[in-house]
Parts: sequence; C-alpha cells; structure tokens
Amino acid sequence: MHEMALCESILGILREQAGRDDFSKVERVCLEVGPLSGVETDALRFGFDVVMRGSLAEGATLDIVTPPATAWCWPCSETVAISERFDPCPECGSHQLQVTSGEEMRIKELEVS
Ligand SMILES: [Zn+2]
Repeated sequence: MHEMALCESILGILREQAGRDDFSKVERVCLEVGPLSGVETDALRFGFDVVMRGSLAEGATLDIVTPPATAWCWPCSETVAISERFDPCPECGSHQLQVTSGEEMRIKELEVS
C-alpha cells in the first residue's frame, strides 16, 4: 500500500527532526495533502496508526488538511482553483488548464514534547 510507504517516510522525517530539535514525543502531526496527490486519506490515517506504533509518535493525533488545487488557465491568463485534475476552468469552462499545485504532500505543523 502506497500510503504505508508514505507513513514510513513521515516517521523518518519525525525521527530526524527529533534528533535535531531534541524532542522525544510527537503529540500531533498536521499534514497538508494536495487534492491531486492521489493519497487516500482514510488509508493514510490507518497506516499512520500502524506505522507509528512503538515509535516516538505512537498515539499522536493526525490532522489532514487539503488545500485547494490551483491551475493556470490559458484563455483567462490567470490562476484558478480546481478540485479535480480534469476539472474545467470555473471562470470560462475551458479545459486548457495547467495544474500548478495540488499534487504535493508535506508536514505542515508538528506538536512535540
Ligand atoms: Zn478560464
């Protein structure tokens, strides 16, 4: 499962930060998951609990926020918000869009102790 691997890499980042910033417990992780990233948030939550078990982030709260995706509309010559990859432009209905954000996943906030 793709989301398991993502959780493993999140744990890697947490361990690295714990070593650098000198904390031993993670209380809350806020993840920003782009709507076009293809990540299943339910699977991510499940994977998170499994992967964090026995680690510094065991029992940590996982918050997932999904920012709107954006795309450049050629006919409008401006950036518009979309919710799906193949959405038409909400302004002019054109499909000549180039996705500019919404595919990324990153740790937005960490609460540690
Ligand atoms: Zn447009």
